[in-house]
Amino acid sequence: MTDAIVVGSGAAGVNAAWPLVERGLSVTMLDYGNEDTVYAPLVPDRPWSELRRGDEGQARYFLGDRFEGVPFGEVRVGAQLTPPRMFITADTEELTPVASDTFGVSESLAKGGLASGWGAGVFPFDDDDLTGAPFSRGEIDPHYEAVAERIGVSGARDDLLPFLGDCEAMMPPLELDSAAEAVLERYGSRREQLNRAGFHLGRTRLAACSRAHRGRDAHPYLDMDFWSDAGRSVYRPRWTLDELREFDNFRYLDRRLVLTFREDGEGAEVACRLADGGERETHRARAVVLAAGTLGTARIVLRSLDRYDRPLPVLCNPYTYAPVVNLGMVGRKARDRRHSLAQLTAVYRPNPDEPAVVAQYYSYRSLLTYKLMKESPLGYKATLSIMRLLTPIFGVLGMHHQDVSSPAKTCTLRRGGDGPDKLAIEYRPSDGEERRHAAAETAVLACFRKLGCRALKRIRPGHGSSIHYAGTLPYRAEGGELTTDAASRLHGTRAVHVADGSVFSPLSAKGLTFTIMANADRVGALLADELG
Ligand SMILES: Cc1cc2nc3c(=O)[nH]c(=O)nc-3n(C[C@H](O)[C@H](O)[C@H](O)COP(=O)(O)OP(=O)(O)OC[C@H]3O[C@@H](n4cnc5c(N)ncnc54)[C@H](O)[C@@H]3O)c2cc1C
Repeated sequence: MTDAIVVGSGAAGVNAAWPLVERGLSVTMLDYGNEDTVYAPLVPDRPWSELRRGDEGQARYFLGDRFEGVPFGEVRVGAQLTPPRMFITADTEELTPVASDTFGVSESLAKGGLASGWGAGVFPFDDDDLTGAPFSRGEIDPHYEAVAERIGVSGARDDLLPFLGDCEAMMPPLELDSAAEAVLERYGSRREQLNRAGFHLGRTRLAACSRAHRGRDAHPYLDMDFWSDAGRSVYRPRWTLDELREFDNFRYLDRRLVLTFREDGEGAEVACRLADGGERETHRARAVVLAAGTLGTARIVLRSLDRYDRPLPVLCNPYTYAPVVNLGMVGRKARDRRHSLAQLTAVYRPNPDEPAVVAQYYSYRSLLTYKLMKESPLGYKATLSIMRLLTPIFGVLGMHHQDVSSPAKTCTLRRGGDGPDKLAIEYRPSDGEERRHAAAETAVLACFRKLGCRALKRIRPGHGSSIHYAGTLPYRAEGGELTTDAASRLHGTRAVHVADGSVFSPLSAKGLTFTIMANADRVGALLADELG
């Protein structure tokens, strides 16, 4: 019998599988595993500016063969999910439907999951951020280190060090672009005053290589990170999956939709449906690791335990973004050479009793002007001429808030009848939470104003838009149905472990994926000890 089945090939799945496979245990990974077979070969490894000026084939990948890259209407979530990234959310409306008037969902059935298009922002949690987790920063640190080495992390030891902590495996930071340099220069001359107000700014720590690492190239600065994976420099879980597939004791089975697990005397049986043909299939193992993404794992658990109509808590960082004019760029020429990921990160925490707000600064260019044009109150022609002049000085600030569970934030599996089961999500933050978020955003934008960045407006893309889902099966030392123990085992089971964001509650404002990966590595290592 196989030692362990891992469900899902995303950030959680591949990092949970790694320590099991490395220790010689037999692992089968079950995954739906959608891939992009259309666009990836079409995007040349050349700078964005050259492609825009001269590539005759650019319309295909920039706009999409069916113009699927043009967000008509009010679509504001996942602007980074360009046509070459749309495989990430493919088939989810049909196979993993959600019913909600209050919460927008982006789930993934892709090889590599959502992190096939993530922003690669790496934010190690401190002890405060780990409130509720069964480990401290000191205990998770070796797993942060192991994952940082595995995925390649670059960053600086700057003003964010007290908030992120050090990382031995960290490579030097990626180069800043001209706009971020202008912001950082102004910060240098106003640092003391801003630090006193609780505002600290530094370079964004990124899961991207600034030098060659594990067969991947140093970042090529083509400004094409939203469109392609040149040199495999930015981390995608597929790179770890490729490495896992080199091991004889690892088996990857895709085109399978996992439905349920069932424990028996020796371990567990996992039932899935084949994507091609629809037949059912079962697999047995001594242990199961669920890493189907927070919402995917909730579906599998609730269905397996027949807990339909039983609400689970759900969390997702509240998110607001603001287009900003960066006055430091007026009269300054922007270098063409740049990456497209977040350039700078700010942590705003004026008072240790209040949770931090985390803001990221992006220079706006390669996501194309038409997405900003939608937000203009002026007519099309006027907006186009203004945008052409202004784009070089535009930036985007994304602000994330902490989330805590409440009875008004739930997800509930409803029986599908003839079709697939539906996850019904209710998400209604209290007025107090909304007021606190708005006040903190005003303060963060005031700090950025001192750095020459003037916000044009605030856009709240709706609940769920940060795509940082968590908190459905939280850690609880005291036990309890639909919670997890310190080893991430689902209470009431012997052999079922949870390795994704489901276990984190409350949810820090820092992006959780690096911590998902480190925890998955911890869960895999603990299970490897247990299975011997
Ligand atoms: C545009 C974007 C930018 C982001 N930027 C950041 C960032 O900068 N920093 C950060 O911390 N986070 C970021 N995130 C969030 C991050 O991508 C997710 O937190 C992370 O990828 C979650 O990983 P996961 O493995 O838990 O789940 P997922 O990525 O959802 O992976 C789920 C896996 O399970 C498989 N699966 C699901 N259900 C089934 C089933 N029933 N049967 C078989 N297989 C199944 C899928 O095929 C997939 O392989 C971003 C997300 C997006 C979309």
